[in-house]
Amino acid sequence: MKTSEYSNEQLDQRMRNAGLRPSSARIHVLRYLEKHRNHPTADRIYKALRPDLPSLSRASVYNSLAALERSGLVRPLTMDGDELRYDAHVEDHGHFCCERCGAIHDFPLAPSDAAALCPDGFLARRRDVLVWGLCPGCAEDGADCAK
Ligand SMILES: [Zn+2]
Ligand SMILES: [Zn+2]
Repeated sequence: MKTSEYSNEQLDQRMRNAGLRPSSARIHVLRYLEKHRNHPTADRIYKALRPDLPSLSRASVYNSLAALERSGLVRPLTMDGDELRYDAHVEDHGHFCCERCGAIHDFPLAPSDAAALCPDGFLARRRDVLVWGLCPGCAEDGADCAK
Protein backbone atom coordinates (compact mmCIF):
# COMPACT_ATOMS: atom_id res chain seq x y z
CA MET A 1 0.00 0.00 0.00
CA LYS A 2 1.53 3.34 -0.93
CA THR A 3 1.82 5.87 1.85
CA SER A 4 2.95 8.88 -0.12
CA GLU A 5 2.97 12.25 1.58
CA TYR A 6 0.86 14.78 -0.21
CA SER A 7 1.71 18.45 -0.26
CA ASN A 8 -1.00 21.05 0.17
CA GLU A 9 -0.69 21.86 -3.54
CA GLN A 10 -1.26 18.22 -4.51
CA LEU A 11 -4.25 17.88 -2.21
CA ASP A 12 -5.58 21.18 -3.50
CA GLN A 13 -5.19 19.96 -7.08
CA ARG A 14 -6.84 16.62 -6.36
CA MET A 15 -9.86 18.40 -4.93
CA ARG A 16 -10.10 20.76 -7.88
CA ASN A 17 -9.85 17.82 -10.28
CA ALA A 18 -12.71 16.18 -8.39
CA GLY A 19 -14.75 19.39 -8.68
CA LEU A 20 -14.44 20.23 -5.00
CA ARG A 21 -13.53 23.63 -3.63
CA PRO A 22 -10.47 23.11 -1.42
CA SER A 23 -10.94 24.53 2.05
CA SER A 24 -8.49 24.33 4.89
CA ALA A 25 -10.64 21.82 6.79
CA ARG A 26 -11.05 19.60 3.73
CA ILE A 27 -7.30 19.65 3.07
CA HIS A 28 -6.49 18.72 6.66
CA VAL A 29 -9.04 15.92 6.73
CA LEU A 30 -7.88 14.47 3.40
CA ARG A 31 -4.23 14.70 4.41
CA TYR A 32 -4.98 12.93 7.67
CA LEU A 33 -6.74 10.11 5.84
CA GLU A 34 -3.94 9.79 3.28
CA LYS A 35 -1.44 9.48 6.10
CA HIS A 36 -3.42 7.25 8.44
CA ARG A 37 -4.61 4.19 6.59
CA ASN A 38 -6.25 2.69 9.69
CA HIS A 39 -9.78 3.69 8.67
CA PRO A 40 -10.45 6.23 11.42
CA THR A 41 -13.87 7.47 12.47
CA ALA A 42 -14.84 11.15 12.06
CA ASP A 43 -14.44 11.60 15.79
CA ARG A 44 -10.93 10.22 15.76
CA ILE A 45 -9.95 12.54 12.90
CA TYR A 46 -11.42 15.49 14.77
CA LYS A 47 -9.54 14.66 17.97
CA ALA A 48 -6.27 14.15 16.09
CA LEU A 49 -6.50 17.45 14.18
CA ARG A 50 -7.87 19.58 16.98
CA PRO A 51 -4.60 20.32 18.84
CA ASP A 52 -3.05 21.90 15.73
CA LEU A 53 -6.27 23.55 14.57
CA PRO A 54 -8.04 24.99 17.58
CA SER A 55 -10.61 26.68 15.36
CA LEU A 56 -11.69 23.40 13.77
CA SER A 57 -15.19 22.31 14.75
CA ARG A 58 -16.56 18.79 14.85
CA ALA A 59 -19.21 19.88 12.35
CA SER A 60 -16.60 21.03 9.86
CA VAL A 61 -14.88 17.63 10.05
CA TYR A 62 -18.21 15.90 9.36
CA ASN A 63 -19.02 18.34 6.56
CA SER A 64 -15.57 17.92 5.01
CA LEU A 65 -15.91 14.15 5.07
CA ALA A 66 -19.34 14.37 3.44
CA ALA A 67 -17.99 16.64 0.70
CA LEU A 68 -14.91 14.45 0.12
CA GLU A 69 -17.15 11.41 -0.07
CA ARG A 70 -19.49 13.01 -2.60
CA SER A 71 -16.46 13.85 -4.76
CA GLY A 72 -15.17 10.30 -4.57
CA LEU A 73 -11.96 11.22 -2.72
CA VAL A 74 -12.76 9.18 0.37
CA ARG A 75 -15.07 6.29 0.92
CA PRO A 76 -17.02 5.40 4.02
CA LEU A 77 -16.83 1.98 5.55
CA THR A 78 -19.74 0.65 7.54
CA MET A 79 -18.92 -1.86 10.23
CA ASP A 80 -21.46 -3.82 12.27
CA GLY A 81 -23.04 -1.47 14.78
CA ASP A 82 -19.97 0.70 14.69
CA GLU A 83 -19.43 4.32 13.80
CA LEU A 84 -18.76 5.01 10.14
CA ARG A 85 -15.07 4.84 9.31
CA TYR A 86 -13.31 6.57 6.43
CA ASP A 87 -10.80 5.46 3.86
CA ALA A 88 -8.76 7.58 1.44
CA HIS A 89 -7.91 4.42 -0.49
CA VAL A 90 -10.80 4.50 -2.93
CA GLU A 91 -9.69 1.87 -5.43
CA ASP A 92 -11.49 -1.45 -5.09
CA HIS A 93 -10.07 -3.39 -2.13
CA GLY A 94 -11.24 -5.64 0.66
CA HIS A 95 -11.15 -5.15 4.41
CA PHE A 96 -10.14 -7.61 7.05
CA CYS A 97 -11.47 -6.71 10.49
CA CYS A 98 -9.83 -8.29 13.52
CA GLU A 99 -12.46 -9.35 16.05
CA ARG A 100 -10.01 -9.09 18.90
CA CYS A 101 -8.06 -5.84 18.44
CA GLY A 102 -10.48 -4.14 16.06
CA ALA A 103 -7.78 -3.26 13.52
CA ILE A 104 -8.92 -3.05 9.91
CA HIS A 105 -6.46 -4.12 7.24
CA ASP A 106 -6.71 -3.53 3.51
CA PHE A 107 -6.17 -6.36 1.10
CA PRO A 108 -6.23 -6.42 -2.69
CA LEU A 109 -9.11 -8.00 -4.56
CA ALA A 110 -8.94 -9.78 -7.88
CA PRO A 111 -10.21 -7.27 -10.43
CA SER A 112 -13.56 -7.41 -12.17
CA ASP A 113 -15.36 -10.26 -10.46
CA ALA A 114 -18.00 -7.90 -9.04
CA ALA A 115 -19.72 -8.23 -12.40
CA ALA A 116 -19.52 -12.02 -12.21
CA LEU A 117 -21.32 -11.99 -8.84
CA CYS A 118 -24.31 -10.07 -10.20
CA PRO A 119 -27.34 -11.54 -11.91
CA ASP A 120 -27.90 -10.68 -15.57
CA GLY A 121 -29.12 -7.17 -16.14
CA PHE A 122 -27.57 -5.72 -12.97
CA LEU A 123 -24.79 -3.23 -13.39
CA ALA A 124 -22.16 -3.51 -10.64
CA ARG A 125 -20.38 -0.30 -9.78
CA ARG A 126 -18.79 -0.95 -6.42
CA ARG A 127 -18.38 -3.84 -4.03
CA ASP A 128 -17.59 -4.04 -0.35
CA VAL A 129 -15.75 -7.09 0.84
CA LEU A 130 -15.47 -7.40 4.58
CA VAL A 131 -13.85 -10.40 6.24
CA TRP A 132 -13.86 -10.92 10.00
CA GLY A 133 -11.36 -12.95 11.97
CA LEU A 134 -8.03 -12.62 13.75
CA CYS A 135 -5.07 -10.60 12.51
CA PRO A 136 -1.65 -12.37 12.58
CA GLY A 137 -0.66 -10.71 15.88
CA CYS A 138 -3.89 -11.72 17.62
CA ALA A 139 -3.94 -15.20 16.10
CA GLU A 140 -0.49 -15.76 17.54
CA ASP A 141 -1.08 -14.70 21.12
CA GLY A 142 -3.79 -16.90 22.45
CA ALA A 143 -5.93 -18.01 19.57
CA ASP A 144 -7.11 -20.80 21.86
CA CYS A 145 -8.69 -18.51 24.44
CA ALA A 146 -12.05 -18.29 22.75
CA LYS A 147 -13.61 -14.90 23.21
ZN1 LIG B 1 -5.91 -8.21 15.96
ZN1 LIG C 1 -9.42 0.34 3.21
